[in-house]
Amino acid sequence: MPTLSVFGAQWGDEGKGKIIDLLAREADYVVRFQGGPNAGHTVVVDGQKFVLHLVPSGILHAGRVNVIGNGVAVDPLALFTEIQELTARGVAVDPRSLRVSGAAHVIFEHHRRLDVLSEHWRGAGRIGTTGRGIGPCYADKAARTGLRVADLLDPERQRARLTAVLAEKNAWIETVHKERPLDLAETLRRYADIAEQLAPFVADTGAEVRAAWRAGKRILFEGAQGAMLDIDHGTYPYVTSSNTGLAAVGTGAGFPPNRVERVLGIAKAYCTRVGEGPFPTEDRGPAGETIREVGKEYGATTGRPRRCGWLDLVALRYALDLNGTTGVVMTNLDVLSVFHEIPVCVSYEIAGRSGAAREFPGQTTPLDGVRPQYVKRAGWSSDISGVRHYRDLPRAAREYVEWVENEIGVPIELLSVGPERDAVIPRA
Ligand code: GDP
Repeated sequence: MPTLSVFGAQWGDEGKGKIIDLLAREADYVVRFQGGPNAGHTVVVDGQKFVLHLVPSGILHAGRVNVIGNGVAVDPLALFTEIQELTARGVAVDPRSLRVSGAAHVIFEHHRRLDVLSEHWRGAGRIGTTGRGIGPCYADKAARTGLRVADLLDPERQRARLTAVLAEKNAWIETVHKERPLDLAETLRRYADIAEQLAPFVADTGAEVRAAWRAGKRILFEGAQGAMLDIDHGTYPYVTSSNTGLAAVGTGAGFPPNRVERVLGIAKAYCTRVGEGPFPTEDRGPAGETIREVGKEYGATTGRPRRCGWLDLVALRYALDLNGTTGVVMTNLDVLSVFHEIPVCVSYEIAGRSGAAREFPGQTTPLDGVRPQYVKRAGWSSDISGVRHYRDLPRAAREYVEWVENEIGVPIELLSVGPERDAVIPRA
């Protein structure tokens, strides 16, 4: 397997977890490089459902090295809860199978508190964050007031830094939000304990991954969230607090992106979005509800109902282009089986502009004002979840896939037709 990077080509929840789990069979290293425990990658193995938040999806295959890179916001409490849950279900997680970068930033209780308090403060302008402290953690990273994993391992350093940081955070919590401050002694005790547990997992993961690459190991980079939620290139401010695409492999894993040979974008055969923000192809009517029920579109991390709608080729082309995508995996094709007709957005109508826009206008035009223009494709009205060979798909399903492929100009390499590991159809 060449060095491969996988990213979400829509608004997250595209089914990356399942595809990464599948690809991990052929990888030696699976590396997370951005995001935090807000990611919720669902993998179904032998009817058992695993939801992974911080631990890379390669953990479900024995013998892989799973890396949490420096660009990930690490909540050690959430990490150990996840490790305990995996261990209880027979998945071995130890310092050989999991490595955590010493340069990754740590999410503390004050980050979680401030995440929720700030979201309240925003009122109607809320972003729809998962409240897990990730945004405030990245904000401290940029402000140079964060603590990194390696800081936790040095008791004196941890005490000094955390004492100074908490004084400021508490002032903010008390004065601005009129809430009770966090207890310093309790915080120090808690994180001193956790540091001891964390120590065996900590490594210079960037150096390790680069050395592994030089030694010919097969490396898979696991993106979280999606291109449309990228902090720079997504629908700001309704975005996640990190970069989500190929470029973040460089910053968040310490691995040169020009050594990544394959870039796979994962996209559903329709679209969903969690939280606030523009979503041009959202269907608020019965069809959207049908997608939600048939596709079980409820958040893996929060259980929130996802907003549902049709495939948006304008946004998808943009996401694929932005990330130098070499191939696409189309997931949840089975969900569309219930529709006789499938609308697909091919262009936007933008107020004040003549003609249909096929190019994504997001950097200059707020998306709220755009009107999606649809083409209706024929549905296939039969269950395809048991199909494993492309030739066995109904002709209308093949025509849908091939038409989309032609519209995006990137090969669709694999189709997914169910949550199970083997519910895939290769194109070959
Ligand atoms: P991720 O964060 O990108 O990994 O996506 P999630 O795990 O949040 O959401 C994907 C959801 O769809 C999960 O519940 C998966 O089990 C499920 N899933 C993945 N692929 C398919 C598919 O092809 N068909 C159906 N019906 N469900 C799928």
